[in-house]
Amino acid sequence: MTEVFARERTMHDLQTRRVQVLRTAAIAPKMVRITLGGEDLTGFSAVGPADHVKVFFPDPETGVLTIPEPGGFRKPRAEGAPAIILRDYTPFAFRGDAESGPELDIDFVLHGDHGVAAAWAAQAKVGDKLGIGGPRASLGVPAGVDSAILVADESALPAATRWLQAFDASVPVTGLFFVKDADTSAYLDGHNSETRELRWFTGVDRASKLEATLRALPIGERTFVFLAGEANTLIPLRRYLRRELGLSKAQADVHGYWKQGEVALDHHAPLDPTDPED
Ligand SMILES: Cc1cc2nc3c(=O)[nH]c(=O)nc-3n(C[C@H](O)[C@H](O)[C@H](O)COP(=O)(O)OP(=O)(O)OC[C@H]3O[C@@H](n4cnc5c(N)ncnc54)[C@H](O)[C@@H]3O)c2cc1C
Repeated sequence: MTEVFARERTMHDLQTRRVQVLRTAAIAPKMVRITLGGEDLTGFSAVGPADHVKVFFPDPETGVLTIPEPGGFRKPRAEGAPAIILRDYTPFAFRGDAESGPELDIDFVLHGDHGVAAAWAAQAKVGDKLGIGGPRASLGVPAGVDSAILVADESALPAATRWLQAFDASVPVTGLFFVKDADTSAYLDGHNSETRELRWFTGVDRASKLEATLRALPIGERTFVFLAGEANTLIPLRRYLRRELGLSKAQADVHGYWKQGEVALDHHAPLDPTDPED
């Protein structure tokens, strides 16, 4: 019998692809959907709800876009070699059968021009070039889940949307979203339903309101909890789920997507350095 929360893993041929901007659309006060195209996207696949790709950006100083060989960004760079500038993003939607060629949507948070990625996205125009690496693997929906809780900030709304789409419509899902701007809730317009309860937390005390709400929710043996967003905000929530309630890593799936004050957070590093995963 399949274990509860077991997830099917699909491995992909690791590839890097050259893509270009086909169109852009504002989708929330500080979020833009960028549709990428190009023949290199043929065969792209990202079937897991929380899949991610590496996005390679042009160097903002020189304009040079360096796209490494698959996996090549992990290798040491020769002295004087152009920088490889990459960030992690969620492949929000892929249409391999679009009439004019394959299309990939990525939703970018516009958090200001102090980040290479956000600054690029804010100025992106048709024809601009990028690189895409991966995904390396896709993890499917956990087995045996009878309810789910999704916790996300703006950066994880694309992943939360993919989770909402991935769960069977009969599975009750509570979404707890902590965002800066109340109008960001427009991002999930159309996703409310009898089995989907979406709550939004804004204002300076949004993290504490979110924690109080999470603590009040019933979490059963088959409730799956996915949390992603700013790393420091998630630390007390993870501690509650993993240490107070004793949920397994498979049941409470927690990911720091970015960290206040840190450039290009390594999301494989422990979310809470004082309490690494066991
Ligand atoms: C698996 C995964 C999937 C992700 N999916 C998405 C996605 O679909 N859409 C998306 O927008 N982001 C996503 N992110 C988050 C994204 O990778 C980071 O926000 C990234 O740091 C942005 O790069 P940057 O160059 O704009 O900023 P950086 O150069 O990395 O950081 C510069 C400064 O900006 C701050 N900063 C970074 N991100 C944010 C933010 N979101 N809000 C406010 N301040 C910020 C940093 O703390 C730092 O002080 C994902 C991350 C992971 C790990």
